[in-house]
Amino acid sequence: MEQKKIVDKTIDQWVKENPILADMTAYKPVFWLNDNLKDKEDETYKNLQISWTDVLEAEERWIRFAPLIVRLFLQTELQKGIIESELQELPNTKEAINRLYHVEIQGRLFLKCDNALPVAGSIKARGGIYEVLKHAEKLVMSQGLLKKDNDYSVLANKEFKEFFSKYSLAVGSTGNLGLSIGIMGAALGFKVTVHMSADAKQWKKDLLRSKGVIVVEYESDYSKAVEEGRKLALQDPMCHFVDDEHSKDLFLGYSAAAIRLKRQLEERNIKIDKQSPLFVYLPCGVGGAPGGICFGLKQLFRDAVHCFFVEPTHSPCMLLGLATKMNDKVSVQDFGIDNITEGDGLAVGRASGFVGKVMENLLSGVYTVEDQELYRLLALLKDCEGIEIEPSAAASLMGPAALINEKAGIDYIEGNSLELHMNNATHIAWATGGSFVPTDMKQDFYEKGKSLL
Ligand SMILES: *Cc1c(COP(=O)(O)O)cnc(C)c1O
Repeated sequence: MEQKKIVDKTIDQWVKENPILADMTAYKPVFWLNDNLKDKEDETYKNLQISWTDVLEAEERWIRFAPLIVRLFLQTELQKGIIESELQELPNTKEAINRLYHVEIQGRLFLKCDNALPVAGSIKARGGIYEVLKHAEKLVMSQGLLKKDNDYSVLANKEFKEFFSKYSLAVGSTGNLGLSIGIMGAALGFKVTVHMSADAKQWKKDLLRSKGVIVVEYESDYSKAVEEGRKLALQDPMCHFVDDEHSKDLFLGYSAAAIRLKRQLEERNIKIDKQSPLFVYLPCGVGGAPGGICFGLKQLFRDAVHCFFVEPTHSPCMLLGLATKMNDKVSVQDFGIDNITEGDGLAVGRASGFVGKVMENLLSGVYTVEDQELYRLLALLKDCEGIEIEPSAAASLMGPAALINEKAGIDYIEGNSLELHMNNATHIAWATGGSFVPTDMKQDFYEKGKSLL
């Protein structure tokens, strides 16, 4: 029987050309290095669809909106309306990971605690809220109702709420993006519709409905929810569709995190340069969040920072796009991979083409993790430091161990002449979500992890 073709080759041909696909299609964890990494050349940072100026502009916009954020969300008062998370060192977890995976991690290990980001409880507070704010700003400015140097807290006034209620927002989501768009949009007065994929959790739908958000449920996966949402939104000229697969605004909202992280490292007197490398491990779904952060960090630290994405073995969409160099022309389903994972936000079968393109020369690599490891790492973190995160966020914690346990990781260290500098390394596992997960579910996650340890 003749095999079906994916783009222009059969699966057998793809695997022959790209042996890592054999392990990927067998759901085996892999560690892939990007042979297109070109972060030593200035050219790499030019001619991208976005620039450093865009990131700076995004950070300025966050600052303009801070007085409004404080007014709408009192929990951000201490941080003066800047939605930001702690960088926390994990000395105990580092030792526990060493024991669990029989490794010896060199350097210091930190957690970027986006699991506790205020307002949305996940990394989506960065991109999603930013896009809503940018859109709101555009609407009021185009009507001459607000200027850049005004106090933005007036946007919480009744007359603005009435103004925004004439407009609507829509988004397709596996859950967390819907939460951030829904919570922010509803707080401003927008009519918000969230198109949720089948894997979205009930508590997220309930929470959104309690805020007056319309939740449309689909039997299908994320890509379909996005497609349907986009189609419906396009029919309504008053509706803005937040497009997780293509949005530059989402991406830039995330990228501003790099500026904040640099400041946090400076505050701790942690030097980052080629002799003191920074390794950042980022869970990847469609790619916007990890891509935006990687883009910002590469601009700031160039080849002193090494960004790795992590995906579930059952949803390695970004890896597939990068390894085959087919970007968003291929999906994991094309290769018979089922896209079923318990990592919320990571069950994405086709990566963002826009992000894939920007990452082409900036990303160091991608590793994949089995779902059961997510639970083990989540339980380990809670036992060691008392921090609760969701399974998808725990994927980041595998990074430092995978790097030195896998041949490709060692090749990377040696290929970049980092052997003698790993003692000075700073590893950051990006915890992408968790604090909004209901208590009984957190307990279930933990018990599941404990039973596997
Ligand atoms: C959305 C999400 C991610 C990944 O972000 P993408 O922009 O989809 O790549 C990772 N972890 C959690 C908890 C998320 O909600």
